[in-house]
Amino acid sequence: MTINLEHVLQKKFKFNAFKPGQKEVIEQLLQNQDTLAVLPTGTGKSLCYQFVGQLLAGTVIIVSPLLSLMEDQVIQLQKKGESSVIALNSSLSFSEKQYVLHHLSDYKYILISPETLAQQEVRKKMATLKIALFVVDEAHCVSQWGVDFRPEYTKLAKIQVECGNPLTLALTATATPAVKQEIVKQVFTHKKAISEVIFSVNRPNIGLIVNQCTEKKEALISYLIQLKSKGIIYCATRKTAEKINRLIKEETSLKSAFYHGGLTANERSLLQQQFVANQLDVLCATNAFGMGIDKPDVRFVIHYDCPDSLENYVQEIGRAGRDGQASVAILLYQKGDESVHYYFQSESRLDRALLNELTSYQIDDREMLLPGLNEIQQKWLQGYLEKEYTLDELEQRLLRKEKERQQQLTVMLDYIKQAKCR
Ligand code: ADP
Ligand code: MG
Repeated sequence: MTINLEHVLQKKFKFNAFKPGQKEVIEQLLQNQDTLAVLPTGTGKSLCYQFVGQLLAGTVIIVSPLLSLMEDQVIQLQKKGESSVIALNSSLSFSEKQYVLHHLSDYKYILISPETLAQQEVRKKMATLKIALFVVDEAHCVSQWGVDFRPEYTKLAKIQVECGNPLTLALTATATPAVKQEIVKQVFTHKKAISEVIFSVNRPNIGLIVNQCTEKKEALISYLIQLKSKGIIYCATRKTAEKINRLIKEETSLKSAFYHGGLTANERSLLQQQFVANQLDVLCATNAFGMGIDKPDVRFVIHYDCPDSLENYVQEIGRAGRDGQASVAILLYQKGDESVHYYFQSESRLDRALLNELTSYQIDDREMLLPGLNEIQQKWLQGYLEKEYTLDELEQRLLRKEKERQQQLTVMLDYIKQAKCR
């Protein structure tokens, strides 16, 4: 029997038409094909598993890296009349969690954090379910080198096997060839063949401006005054984010705040809420701000500093105009801006020296070094500790990464050079 997918979409999900990529992904899954889907932010990637879940018997497991993303999904599903949905994560109390685990097979959709999924008692329960579809959302989090890296994502292959190697869907908006390779390796470890659905990241409602200027601060303030709307200003460092926030407060009457990894989780979550609720006009942020922010009416994204790669640039400007309304992405470039990235790259050389030093530590003591390291160093050390690869292998990785980063920066700078000054 062939199913009229459009009919299901209209009846159950109340949408008139599929967005680009959705139908292709759904069709692959209905043919029992494991699928990697790379679709731009805001495409409605979640609909793919919501939809397939409606048509297949069994549970849909969705591994999701952020509590806010899980909550958003629970609400989306409940709005569609789906009541058997649960988010299983650290926000549950002990007794709530025990209740959920006891009734796990009653749920159709289970949103779960990778950390919770890695727990033994949870894994045991998962292994008893009939799983229709295993979804890895924000699958780029498996990438050791990305800003979003989550060590627990590297355990997924093992857990999939325990769950009987179910039909698998990996979703992301970011897919450099290297990241794609890592997803295939870690999420589709035990699959023979996978389907890939990859759609261009072109977002026609976002106007792109590259402004090569000599006075970035003045240019920024004049844009902000003209724009009169809400948006994000991306900076390369925490220090710059704070500095630009001060500047905006001094020069304009806009409500502004800064956001970076140096703030506590509570502070960050409060800022997010304020930004989404329009209590802030602008957020001066490092790339720590972004994933999981569901604010459809961000009207502009300004890059005060040159991004380190075209991929990150595309990901970051994708936070503008998710509602489809006209939006703008402005990149301010002043000669020499890239030097901050060369500085980060040279930092990776420092790290290698540091990692060499670590050979003389016992495994347990190495953990103790974590708090003293910067974010990038922590991520590397964590990856190293989790995977327990040798220092030689790590050295190779670092070298490769360094080269990759240089190439990515070159591509970004070429883009800036070619863009017309407007
Ligand atoms: P992504 O994960 O790709 O960034 P989401 O799954 O969070 O995107 O969906 C973004 C928004 O798009 C949601 O509000 C969702 O309801 C909406 N959406 C999904 N599919 C469609 C569709 N076919 N037509 C219109 N809106 C859709
Ligand atoms: Mg999503």
